[in-house]
Amino acid sequence: MKISDLFLSQDKTFSFEFFPPHDEISAVDFGINIGRLMKLSPSFVTVTYGAGGSNQERTFALVDYLQNRIGLTTVAHYTCVNATRDKIKSDLDYLMGHGIKNLMLLRGDPPKGENEFIPPENGFNFASELTAFVDEYYDFCKAGAAYVEKHPEAPSLEEDIQNLKLKVNAGADFLITQLFFINSYYFDFIKKTRAAGITCRIIPGIIPLTSYKQIERFTKMSAAKIPAKLASAIESHKDQPEKMYEIGLEYTINQCKELLTNGAPGIHFYTLNKSRAAVEIFESL
Ligand code: FAD
Repeated sequence: MKISDLFLSQDKTFSFEFFPPHDEISAVDFGINIGRLMKLSPSFVTVTYGAGGSNQERTFALVDYLQNRIGLTTVAHYTCVNATRDKIKSDLDYLMGHGIKNLMLLRGDPPKGENEFIPPENGFNFASELTAFVDEYYDFCKAGAAYVEKHPEAPSLEEDIQNLKLKVNAGADFLITQLFFINSYYFDFIKKTRAAGITCRIIPGIIPLTSYKQIERFTKMSAAKIPAKLASAIESHKDQPEKMYEIGLEYTINQCKELLTNGAPGIHFYTLNKSRAAVEIFESL
């Protein structure tokens, strides 16, 4: 089912992001976690595309498995990295042939060691261009990425929102945000995007911060600001993993509740292929 059709009957959607397991052991772990998460009946799930366009086969295999074997409405992420127009067509023909109806279209990050994204010859520079191309040749429901704290390369949030508008005008049906921990950024972002004429759903992307190690990792990965109080509460329990987990979980539950009460059209959960936090958070909502 296209997610744009799902929106006609669901005011709020609850969804999960997965990445393809790297080896046999994580695949077994993944199977167990999927089993637990399925009990929550997510509206849809998404599968990431390897950074630098790597592991494409695993993304496609997992998308096929979740959509066709497990029966979940599944979104395949796809990036402009190393993607010529011919390759895009052959990949999307494959996905369409496997019953996939939903794509998350992204530019992708520059490969490791490179600072700048360089499009391949006969490829695309921005997600909006890829979205326009897919819109012209295919009948997928198309999602795009949004950044409530602005994309790291954008000179300002205002410019980033103008570029986001190009993506929506090119055919993006809905947007999912980069992870964030401070809700006021999301609420301000929604006001600014609406003022700019972006009317589609913008689903908040959420991750629980449940360990000290993650503080540095998430900040580096996404440039998301972490509330000082939360960071110091977690840091002060560095040697008590269970306590850190509880603090992070409680913060995320309250964060999600506030988002949903104030009009967010659902929650997209970055699971990191784990199930414990997702199950506890979703059961409490
Ligand atoms: P774009 O929307 O193209 O924007 C990139 C930058 O270019 C921004 O600064 C923007 O302001 C600017 N820009 C856009 N259009 C123009 C224009 N016309 N002129 C000038 N500047 C412009 N990465 C992966 O590799 N695999 C994944 O599976 C993956 N999944 C993700 C899912 C979500 C929900 C999110 C939020 C991110 C994901 N990413 C993934 C990361 C993403 O690839 C990076 O953040 C990447 O740097 C930007 O991708 P984008 O699609 O947002 O790019």
